[in-house]
Amino acid sequence: MKKIPASWLNDFAYCEYQIYLEHGRGAKPEPKPETEESKAAQASLEEPYKAGAKLELSVEDAMAKACGEGIAVSARGVEVEGVDIVGCIDEIVFMPDRILVIDDKPGDMAWPGSRMQAWGYCVAFEEQYDPRLPLMAAIRGRETGYEVWAQPFTEGHREEVQRAVFRIRQLIDGEAIPVGTRNRRKCQACRLAASCDVKVA
Ligand code: SF4
Repeated sequence: MKKIPASWLNDFAYCEYQIYLEHGRGAKPEPKPETEESKAAQASLEEPYKAGAKLELSVEDAMAKACGEGIAVSARGVEVEGVDIVGCIDEIVFMPDRILVIDDKPGDMAWPGSRMQAWGYCVAFEEQYDPRLPLMAAIRGRETGYEVWAQPFTEGHREEVQRAVFRIRQLIDGEAIPVGTRNRRKCQACRLAASCDVKVA
């Protein structure tokens, strides 16, 4: 069965009709203009990662080091693959008593879709690595580097992600009738608005 990229959870939470349009009907999103500020912010976040790449440990070694030595160890750009979800986690911080799964997002808001994506990373990470420590999901502002939201990952979040994955599969396989948002503002900002036949004008 096709694995679902964690970023689709974000799109799904925004409007499930996006999933149907893009992955069921093959609609192409309009490219978003990338500002100089966002390019610079991304580059500044990538630099320390590149500089420290030689020192990177495996996830297992990082977990063992954090617990064994009582220190925080971080890894950036960690690919994860769970039973249903795949993705690349922007940063994981392994601490002696917990593991912080961080997703970088533009702006300073933890939108429901961003939170759902972060829970999706937690699900995939837990399934792949079976950590002994509790997970926390966090969202960090891409431009500022400040954490804007963090919450412990629970069984309820796992179930929420599983329900979303089930519905996404139904939508892309044509087994469910997609429902568009009734929120005009979402439609105005939607990258698939030009292809959408149910958008709110
Ligand atoms: S235009 Fe509106 S209804 Fe259509 S996919 Fe986008 S958000 Fe959903």
